[in-house]
Parts: sequence; C-alpha cells; structure tokens
Amino acid sequence: MTEPLFDSIALIGIGLIGSSLARVIAAKGLAGQVRIATRSTETLDAARALELGDSYFRSNAEAAEGADLVIVSVPVGASEAVARQIGPHLKPGAIVSDVGSTKASVVRQMAPHIPDHAHFIAGHPIAGTEQSGPEAGFAELFENRWCILTPESGADPEAVARLRGFWQACGSMVDEMDPDHHDRVLAIVSHLPHIIAYNIVGTADDLETVTKSEVIKYSASGFRDFTRLAASDPVMWRDVCLHNKDALLEMLSRFSEDLSSLQRAIRWGDGDKLYELFSRTRGIRRSIIQAGQDTEEPNFGRDAHKAEAGAAE
Ligand code: NAP
Repeated sequence: MTEPLFDSIALIGIGLIGSSLARVIAAKGLAGQVRIATRSTETLDAARALELGDSYFRSNAEAAEGADLVIVSVPVGASEAVARQIGPHLKPGAIVSDVGSTKASVVRQMAPHIPDHAHFIAGHPIAGTEQSGPEAGFAELFENRWCILTPESGADPEAVARLRGFWQACGSMVDEMDPDHHDRVLAIVSHLPHIIAYNIVGTADDLETVTKSEVIKYSASGFRDFTRLAASDPVMWRDVCLHNKDALLEMLSRFSEDLSSLQRAIRWGDGDKLYELFSRTRGIRRSIIQAGQDTEEPNFGRDAHKAEAGAAE
C-alpha cells in the first residue's frame, strides 16, 4: 500500500473496465474514497454487493461532485451525455478522463462540456476481455499493459503527469499520442481484428453446407479463437465501429485488397507467395511474445479466471 494518489475518485460506469479500476484502486490503496455511478439499479446493486466502492449513485453528477479524479467507463457513444451531466459539478482542479476504445470522437464529445477549472485528458487502457459487467473485472487487468493518453495540446502538464502516475500505479505502461493517430493504430490492432472475427463467425453461422453442430464440434481447429473476439460486447463494438468509421474503413479496404491478393495466390497455386506470407506473420507472433504481450504456453496460457487479459480492447 502506498499513500493515496487522490482523495476521491469517481468511477462513472462500473462494467468490466470500471470494476477492474475499482479493484486495483482498492488493492493498491490509490484513493481515499471511491464513488461509483452507473445508470441501472441492477448494475449498481451488483457493484454494492461486490463492495467495489465507498458510495453508490444512480446520478453521474452526484458521483462526480467533489471528486479529484473522474474516470468515465461507458460505451463511447454515451460519452457526450455523461460529460454534459458531470461538467457543471466538477470541482476546481478535478481531472476527468475516460477509457473509451476510440479517442477523436470521445474528445469531440466530452471536451466542450468540461469547464476551464477542470482538466480533461482522454485515455485508453489497451487491456480487456470479451466479458462485460461488474463481476467480470479483476485487479490485475491493467498489469503490464499499455495505457494510451491523448491530452490536447494545451493540457496542464501536472494533470497529465498525475494521470500517468495513476495508470502506472495500476500496473500499466503509459504512452501519449494524438487522438487521430490512436484511432488509426487501434483500427489495425484491435478494431479490424474484431470486425473480421464478427464476420467470420457470422459467415459460419449462415453456411448451408456445413451444419452448426459441425462448426461447434470441430471448432478447436481455428474457428474458436475467432469466437472469443466475436463474443465481445455488441453495444461497445457497435459504438467503436460508428465512432472510428474513417480509420476502420481505410483499414478494411486495405485488408480487402490484401485478401484478394491471397485469394489469387490460392487460385493460381502460388505456393511461394503463400509460404512467404505465412513465414512473415509467424515472426510477428514471436515479437508479441518477446514484448511480453502474450505467452507461448498452450492455449495462450489463459486460465479460466484471467481469460485473455489484455487481448481484447
Ligand atoms: P461494460 O462491462 O459493458 O460496462 C458498461 C458500463 O457503462 C456499465 O456501467 C453500464 O451501465 C454503462 N452504460 C452502458 N450504456 C450506457 C449508456 N448509454 N449511458 C450511460 N452508461 C452506460 O463495458 P466495458 O467493457 O467496461 O467498456 C467500457 C468502456 O471501456 C467502453 O468505452 C469500451 O470501449 C472501453 N474499453 C473496453 C475494453 C474491453 O475489452 N471491454 C477494453 C478497453 C476499453 P449499466 O450496466 O448500469 O447499464
């Protein structure tokens, strides 16, 4: 346990990410008190039953009142409504951040509603699972994972440093980048893979020549690895697609071109081309393991509880 970094932290949204924050804040003693808000009584009751905070609110405004750090963890399409609600209730010097998977849209939605006496610094922890809700969180989620902050050019350096320190205390490594650049990077490393997974699982589900029971029975041959991504929260991913439209469309068109080229290689029996690509991609996986972002253990070393920590975001 260290000295609390903030007297009072408000967590708006207490699903997978919000509840993982609540757990790591408690485990490491990062806040004097934790104020939790979520829109539904069911989720709030679940958070209370899990003892994730010190006080519980249905009103985002009330939770933000008096907090030194406010972290918004809701689907990105809800960011503007939340910022509008909390803006007038922020105390001078409060830091407001978020965890949304897209950044340019979140900055556009939230920044205008944060008063000059508070600091808005958007963020995105590159850590997650395909699970949702307060029960799904765990304190180690952010450990050894990157968190990207996208402060605006005039952001207060001291506030940025405090937020950086917070994420480091949660176990993360922190990078800073421009929101548009973030969205392009995430379009390829996260958003496109999820779209491909949703698409392939949808295609298998629609096939007439192979039965659904065969797809499930023989899934260990590759298909099941896509189903994990395709089991991710539909609301979250609907919002990611709608809010990172340009970067995602750009990556999708590049992907389609490369897929056509692969299709041609298969059609014309171009084994050299296939071998060259498959060898190159094998090297990428080795680099990911060397960077400590996955493990060589069988089944990706994933056990039941910490299923795929850091693999979906
Ligand atoms: P989650 O488990 O589904 O929890 C969502 C939370 O947001 C719940 O408290 C929910 O409230 C609330 N919420 C949902 N819709 C809302 C709305 N329209 N207005 C206000 N509140 C709303 O989601 P999560 O996985 O924690 O994701 C939260 C954010 O983190 C998203 O922006 C996502 O892009 C980002 N993110 C996710 C991952 C991941 O792998 N899951 C990783 C990195 C970042 P109720 O339950 O009370 O309705």
